[in-house]
Amino acid sequence: MKTPSVQARLTLWYTLLMAGMGGLLLGFLVLISGTVSTQTAMDQLEATLRRNLSQITQGADGAPQLGEEFAFYDNGVYTLVYSQGEALLAGQVPVSFTAAEPFQNGQNRPVDVAGARYYVMDFWLPNGWESGLWVRGILEAPENPQLLTNLMFIAMVTLPAFLLLAALGGYGIARRAFRPLKEITSTAAAINEAADLSARVAVPPGDHEFSRLAATFNQMFARLEGAFEAEKQFTADASHELRTPVSVIKSACEYAEKYGETPEEQRETLAMIHRQADRMAELIQQLLSITRLDQGTEGLRLEPLDLAALVEGVCAEQPYPRQRLFCQVGGAVWVRGDAGLLRRLLQNLIDNGFKYGTPQGHVWVTLEGKGNTARLQVRDDGIGIPEDQQEKVWQRFYQVDPSRREGGGAGLGLAMVKKIAQLHGGTVTLDSAPGRGSAFTLLLPREKKL
Ligand code: ADP
Repeated sequence: MKTPSVQARLTLWYTLLMAGMGGLLLGFLVLISGTVSTQTAMDQLEATLRRNLSQITQGADGAPQLGEEFAFYDNGVYTLVYSQGEALLAGQVPVSFTAAEPFQNGQNRPVDVAGARYYVMDFWLPNGWESGLWVRGILEAPENPQLLTNLMFIAMVTLPAFLLLAALGGYGIARRAFRPLKEITSTAAAINEAADLSARVAVPPGDHEFSRLAATFNQMFARLEGAFEAEKQFTADASHELRTPVSVIKSACEYAEKYGETPEEQRETLAMIHRQADRMAELIQQLLSITRLDQGTEGLRLEPLDLAALVEGVCAEQPYPRQRLFCQVGGAVWVRGDAGLLRRLLQNLIDNGFKYGTPQGHVWVTLEGKGNTARLQVRDDGIGIPEDQQEKVWQRFYQVDPSRREGGGAGLGLAMVKKIAQLHGGTVTLDSAPGRGSAFTLLLPREKKL
């Protein structure tokens, strides 16, 4: 069975609630107005009867006398005078009042006769007369008090109309209120079906749940789109970078096959193929590393380590001439880090310092612990990086001057440096000026003790 929509359930719920409340209210009104009209009728009966009683006096001959204001029929009230033996002396019983109602002194009571309601009240007048008199008042209850009739009529007409209005209006408002949700759902579904991450949900005006939901969805789509585009770009760039050495190798092979090369030429061709294969191997290695870092599959092992010892170790392994590479490391500086990744970071920065340095340029590596921060800097006096490129060098595959390719770089080194810094909860910044050199500074949180 199809579950009814939230808006249908909402509408049904408060329409039923309103109907229940309306019915209850009406019931109360009927009850109250019934009680009030009964009370009014009984009061009227008693008042008329008492007034008539005050008009009954005893004549000189001992017989009862009715004063001028005595009325046998007044205000709907019949007044009857009976002897002690209950024989009617004066007055006329209403035709339809056929009940033989026994006399009860001072009792105002309802009496039902053939479906009609009467109020009856009796008084016993003992004084004066030989045997006394019964005075009886009879009032026929108005069949349906006007107020009640009007009320019922209004209720019967207006209640269903109100309910209908409430149901329709409420349904309409709920529909309008839920429209953004429907739009969000259908847009999300369209994005899903068409795999079009550039689509956005229309954000409803105002600041409420739906507008925030739509805005959050859009942020999510934007992030997804960004990630997706980056992924696409990465794959395209990676294939492009790999295609270049492959085509160089292919054409070298074709040339060697086509033209009989001298042994000397063959050696050169092989050496060139070797270089390109190295370049590819390096590139594949870098691609794998960066992907693993991204996916967290590289198995990050953050352990307390002495960065000073690590830097000294890396410096000692460098193939660069001593007079061009200067390492200045003080006492132990403890950080939490992955030794393998930090070594790679430092190696990338040192390599770049030489790759983009002048022929006899220098690279300085310095490490110091300042307060809670470890500060590792790799500075060179090389070609520098123009201001407008300084943001971009951190992007994958970005190269300021792709023609400078010695060393087999593909623009992944600094992207990896940045990623490693992030994984260590640190930052890496660049300070550079063309012609003067560059300084890359890594800041890492320092381990307290050790
Ligand atoms: P690559 O593999 O091309 O060296 P990187 O990501 O390491 O890639 O560097 C990106 C670009 O930043 C390089 O192509 C280079 O133009 C520039 N760059 C990096 N380090 C330096 C530096 N020390 N001095 C000048 N330019 C640099």
